[in-house]
Amino acid sequence: MAKYKLEYVWLDGYKPVQNLRGKTQIKEFASFPKLEELPLWGFDGSSTRQAPGGSSDCVLKPVAVYPDSTRKNGVLVMCEVLNADGTPHVSNTRATILDDEDTWFGFEQEYFLYQDGRPLGFPENGYPYPQGGYYTGVGYKNVGSVAREIVEEHLDLCLDAGINHEGINAEVASGQWEFQIFGKGSKKAADDVWMARYLLIRLCEKYGIDVEFHCKPLRGPYNEPLDWNGSGMHSNFSTKFMREVGGKEYFEKLMAAFAKNMSEHVAVYGPDNHFRLTGLHETQSIDKFTWGIADRGSSIRVPHSFIKAGYKGYLEDRRPNSAANPYDVASRILKTIAEVPTK
Ligand code: ADP
Ligand code: MN
Ligand code: MN
Ligand code: MN
Repeated sequence: MAKYKLEYVWLDGYKPVQNLRGKTQIKEFASFPKLEELPLWGFDGSSTRQAPGGSSDCVLKPVAVYPDSTRKNGVLVMCEVLNADGTPHVSNTRATILDDEDTWFGFEQEYFLYQDGRPLGFPENGYPYPQGGYYTGVGYKNVGSVAREIVEEHLDLCLDAGINHEGINAEVASGQWEFQIFGKGSKKAADDVWMARYLLIRLCEKYGIDVEFHCKPLRGPYNEPLDWNGSGMHSNFSTKFMREVGGKEYFEKLMAAFAKNMSEHVAVYGPDNHFRLTGLHETQSIDKFTWGIADRGSSIRVPHSFIKAGYKGYLEDRRPNSAANPYDVASRILKTIAEVPTK
């Protein structure tokens, strides 16, 4: 038997962006615990905007388990929040996803690393070099001295945890980075994004750096646009039908459904997205829906490979932003797909 440190991680009740919370309990197991072996636990919901003070108990229900290589016998436990009666708490949108293991999601999480209230690489006053050299850049003047260390360490933590990290790159703005996560099944993919966010935020503590997930942190004094990119969470998706059957006719019907549901999608694609979806900086305007082949100025980008394969494969919804909740994004995409008949 060994004593394991179980870090129960959950989403709080803050709006419009839920925060990650976590606390540890120690339990003995013969070997690394399986999901079924992990007990329900509780927390004080009145401190997380999830319950009134008078009846503050909320329940944590383990839904995914990951090794935590930063701790001896460390375990990360992704949880859903339940009310005391066992029903899903309103903040728990994971519980409402139409799950489908055959739907695959690839999330491209962009973010800024911030220190002293500004992105890494920004001087105390004014701006660093204009955008151009930072994207996939190398060299101190492009990426500084600490960001790559964080990004590499984060990559290893995610791989140790068994998270399906697919890659990393320096992004267009100074101090801006991206990682990509792929998962089969919306819950798996979205759980992995949340746990990867958790690992990144926690890792940055020791560097005195915060992770800024706002989709357009760099704005002028009256919110006027500046020539600095915002952050997205491009959401790539494919169903079994899209991968194996597809076809032009189905694709066109699917895009018509996306166009019809434009506002419902934008509503869950992250707050303040109007600052980011402007039609500039590789985005489409927030009030337009378009698709385009290899077009990074469209709402949905259709990869060349999709057309070449006879309208088969995956599509990229470029609208979800860096602060969006991947449970809600996946859930909305699945709902729209479900509206389109495959026969
Ligand atoms: P770009 O920056 O050019 O948009 P990335 O390589 O950053 O491209 O991201 C592409 C994403 O597409 C990856 O997250 C990958 O997991 C995802 N992806 C690839 N194939 C599929 C598929 N069949 N279904 C869903 N997502 C996919
Ligand atoms: Mn990318
Ligand atoms: Mn990117
Ligand atoms: Mn992309």
